Amino acid sequence: MTSSSSPSENARARTWFAVGKAGVLVRQDAAAFALPTREELASLGLSPEAALASGTLGDTDCFAVAVPEDLALPPGWSNLTIRSLMTAFDAPTFYAAGTAGHVLDWHTTSQFCGRCGTHTEAVASERCMKCPKCGLTQYPRIAPAVIVLVRRGDQALLARNGRFPVPFFSTLAGFTEIGETLEETIHREIYEEVGIRVRDTKYHGTQPWPFPHSLMVGFTAEWASGDIKVDGEEIAEARFFSAHDLPLIPPKISIARRLIDGWLEEMGVPSPPDRPR
Ligand SMILES: [Zn+2]
Repeated sequence: MTSSSSPSENARARTWFAVGKAGVLVRQDAAAFALPTREELASLGLSPEAALASGTLGDTDCFAVAVPEDLALPPGWSNLTIRSLMTAFDAPTFYAAGTAGHVLDWHTTSQFCGRCGTHTEAVASERCMKCPKCGLTQYPRIAPAVIVLVRRGDQALLARNGRFPVPFFSTLAGFTEIGETLEETIHREIYEEVGIRVRDTKYHGTQPWPFPHSLMVGFTAEWASGDIKVDGEEIAEARFFSAHDLPLIPPKISIARRLIDGWLEEMGVPSPPDRPR
């Protein structure tokens, strides 16, 4: 595990993620975006020496630098949301940026002890903030959530979330509550959101989802009973779709899309290309 200490001078090549409320700082060169260098960060008034180690990207070590809200950017620099890094960069860079954002979010929100209020200190040997007074340790939080493709015969259940900025249809998802197994989360969430019962849950795969600290655990399930009845709040619309009559679906980088593509492959239907943005 990487430590949260400042980068040493003899490290490998580095990738720098400068992350603030507005997103990730990038320089635009012609039509392409580039991440900043250490020198560029310093010239923008940021402090690369205060960076937090945030893992690796290819053969580079990643470092996360917090960007204050009032930072004035010279021409050529802008902020991209972590979500838009999915298309502006490649998938590994998107994930590394998400990790950088997660590490910074944890560091910012664990500056004080949650039990006694004392200012915490970084532990040198691991990613941990510790209270010098009462000893409470604070590690980064990771919130598990399930995401489920429900099948009924040769159809699959897709739902449109009323809060999505783009009106696409996706698989159902929900956070695990204290004391629940992932399977219990699946049954509870699906019943709450669309009023149906499912059976035969099968693990599919996982995806870290840095908004701000989820781990999406993908499953498939079979419809067992009940008619779709949406809650009308989180879920605006839900239907069983045929593979030949798909609505707008999520981008290929998402685990929702991997679940949908796995089903399409079984149906012998090609996966549609990502929608241009
Ligand atoms: Zn304390």
